Amino acid sequence: MSEWKLTMLGTGSPRPDLERSGPSQVLQMGEANILIDCGEGTTAQLQRANIPPQSVTNLFMTHLHSDHIFGYGQFLLGGWGLGRRKLRIVGPKGIKNYHDTLLELFKDDIDYRISLGRSPKGVLEDVEIIEFDKPGEIKVEDPEIPARIFTDEMVHNVPTFGYRFEGKDQVFVHTGDTAPTENASKLAEGANLLVQDGCLASNETYKNTDNPELQMIWRNLQKEHCTPAQAAQIAKDAKVEKLVLTHFLPNTDVEEVYDEAAAVFDGEVIIGEDLETYSVK
Ligand SMILES: [Zn+2]
Ligand SMILES: [Zn+2]
Repeated sequence: MSEWKLTMLGTGSPRPDLERSGPSQVLQMGEANILIDCGEGTTAQLQRANIPPQSVTNLFMTHLHSDHIFGYGQFLLGGWGLGRRKLRIVGPKGIKNYHDTLLELFKDDIDYRISLGRSPKGVLEDVEIIEFDKPGEIKVEDPEIPARIFTDEMVHNVPTFGYRFEGKDQVFVHTGDTAPTENASKLAEGANLLVQDGCLASNETYKNTDNPELQMIWRNLQKEHCTPAQAAQIAKDAKVEKLVLTHFLPNTDVEEVYDEAAAVFDGEVIIGEDLETYSVK
């Protein structure tokens, strides 16, 4: 069995950042390229990573926050323009409505391109949407995907689900945005590679600020995301091999993040950077 590879496409947050694109990553398992989340800039990042956007026919969404789905319009229509002729989207309840709303908004645009002679397959036809609202196994009928896929609910202020891709001899887990929860460490149990939100690292925006609005936002964010140490605790509890931290705010001090996580977790700690690739095993 070939080794899976994970490429971080976007390691950023809702705050626009030239250094970090919107949250997204792509898991390459054999012939299948699985996109997980689709933040702003995802399609261009796929091109920069030399992964043709039209080769991505599976997209898993963790939740419907804007930073994780802003890139979907370009992925949907741009990838179709490049030649994608089928698509499967998996995600929490609400993604079908988001997809259908985009189709409605761009109905004239899509009809125009079909009138030029482009096949409707991959945008209006041969599109499968799998919505769910409960943890468990997600049944995907696709011989190209050599994995069982499991999901569990995280702690975030909208329904948010992490994913576990379990192959014969390798396991990849991405938890999505979450505050500390046992569900994250259960989902990641024994994984080779875990990508985990470590958003609450100190950064210039929130560090030593006197601005009461920013102070309040920072306090409230503690209920929605993890500090690097909390992310590392999840990796430790789950006994994973490698931890990739992601979802960073602009100007995050990555050395501090590394030290904070490495003080808790004995395995390999990786600070996620855009366009870096890691082998899962
Ligand atoms: Zn979120
Ligand atoms: Zn987010």
